[in-house]
Amino acid sequence: MNQNYDAIIIGMGPSGIFCAYELIKLKKAQNILLIEQGKRVEERICPISKTGKCVKCKPYCNITSGFSGAGAFSDGKLSLYNPKDDDIHIGGELHKYIGVEETKKLIDYTDQIYLEFGADKHLEGVKHQEEIEKIYNKAKKEGINLINIPIRHLGTEKAHELYKGIEKYLEDNGMNMLFETAVEDLIIEENRIKGVKTVNSKTGQKQEYYSNNVVSAVGRKGANWLSNMCEKHNISTKSGTIDIGVRYELSDKVMEKVNKYMYEGKFIARPFPFKDKVRTFCQNPSGFVSSEVYDNDMALVNGHSYKDIKSTNTNLAILVSHNFTYPFKKPIEYGRNIAKNLNELGAGNVIVQRLGDIYRGKRTWEEDLEKNSVVPTLKSAVPGDITYAIGYRTMTDILQFIRELDKVVEGFADPDNLLYAPEIKFYSNKVEIDNNFESSIKGLYSIGDGGGMTRGLMMASCAGVQMARILQWKF
Ligand SMILES: Cc1cc2nc3c(=O)[nH]c(=O)nc-3n(C[C@H](O)[C@H](O)[C@H](O)COP(=O)(O)OP(=O)(O)OC[C@H]3O[C@@H](n4cnc5c(N)ncnc54)[C@H](O)[C@@H]3O)c2cc1C
Repeated sequence: MNQNYDAIIIGMGPSGIFCAYELIKLKKAQNILLIEQGKRVEERICPISKTGKCVKCKPYCNITSGFSGAGAFSDGKLSLYNPKDDDIHIGGELHKYIGVEETKKLIDYTDQIYLEFGADKHLEGVKHQEEIEKIYNKAKKEGINLINIPIRHLGTEKAHELYKGIEKYLEDNGMNMLFETAVEDLIIEENRIKGVKTVNSKTGQKQEYYSNNVVSAVGRKGANWLSNMCEKHNISTKSGTIDIGVRYELSDKVMEKVNKYMYEGKFIARPFPFKDKVRTFCQNPSGFVSSEVYDNDMALVNGHSYKDIKSTNTNLAILVSHNFTYPFKKPIEYGRNIAKNLNELGAGNVIVQRLGDIYRGKRTWEEDLEKNSVVPTLKSAVPGDITYAIGYRTMTDILQFIRELDKVVEGFADPDNLLYAPEIKFYSNKVEIDNNFESSIKGLYSIGDGGGMTRGLMMASCAGVQMARILQWKF
């Protein structure tokens, strides 16, 4: 196999594969290498539906690794933008590098690619403007902001099919793709990228590949690896935000209006006394809570919903953004320690607790769940006590936020509602990049969720497209 490439892309999540797609469109894809530690999309199977619990697949979790990255098993909600807004509120910070107007154009272009590969033409959150306005005004009275943007919902099973189509397109167009191969290290000489060192997870064979252009598109799964690389090679970073919280599950009936009019309500508040940013994220009407496994068997909770299979519950994340101050510079470690303690309390699993039990200062038992009106959709979650491990500040923020939102969405603070933990978004540390996404190492670029630039499918995909447009002038 050739070992010299025009560009090497690490990671085949949305950011990596949309970069590859756009390079093909720009006729610059003759000599590109994509490297992914997970499997091809059609080989990615999560055994939880058969085993009933997470078996922590080795060497990599099929939910978070493989072609299309965390996108394959994701609910596939593509967050677009509100043409009336003069800022981008959702999906991270891509607009800070390329500007708001350029980002909007990029979203239109990328959305079109999703449509070409079979995404549903229907958009959620564009009709019912009057009803949305009513919820918006009610929320505003309580000091809660409601972000209203259109959403294209792929659905977990459809997302899988769509990404299979993109995988085939890349292959048919001659893209070099290495699967089950992890990049272990970067080759850097005199502050310039020269290539990567890989290991094949099946054979253990080590290999080096060379290029003057290497794109890190490693997602949250690779955030820890990237952090280590930054430390080892002196790649400049800045301390980033970490989002820590819970997955909240409640009856569809409570969320009926929000689900019907918006599909996903993006509520943001700064509750008393800490005034931290607390927001709802990734809402899944009639959905299912899921668990995913990261490095060192760290089990995190998430959620998704299918187009065809429905539960009677809605789940959403309630996330608290933490920005640490001097002298603390290790937000990733902080989050990992919280996850570790919660996992230990749950014997390696995600913990679930009734809201009413938290108010009463007691743990939740199996028999409490049996009598509960909200039936948990994540069967492997262990009933327990989240408050032992999540931290006073985060817990206070979450409980206060729930109380405030209850005044907007009646029943949001029902004692039978369920909290699952840990739900943590590891975006930090942020890799310092310029407007061409280039890091302090010449020729080393960072895009997507991993380096802290984006948060979500659409923006990660857009970042990939933009990366290709930058790369086209480099070789
Ligand atoms: C269950 C779930 C549901 C979600 N639902 C939504 C949703 O509805 N809407 C939304 O907008 N977002 C959703 N997300 C988030 C979304 O999937 C991510 O924002 C998006 O996938 C980020 O894209 P990315 O390319 O930056 O990284 P990723 O998709 O994480 O891809 C990174 C890839 O890099 C690979 N990799 C990492 N390190 C290495 C290495 N050293 N060597 C080789 N390969 C490596 C990983 O295996 C992975 O495949 C969801 C995520 C999950 C887990």
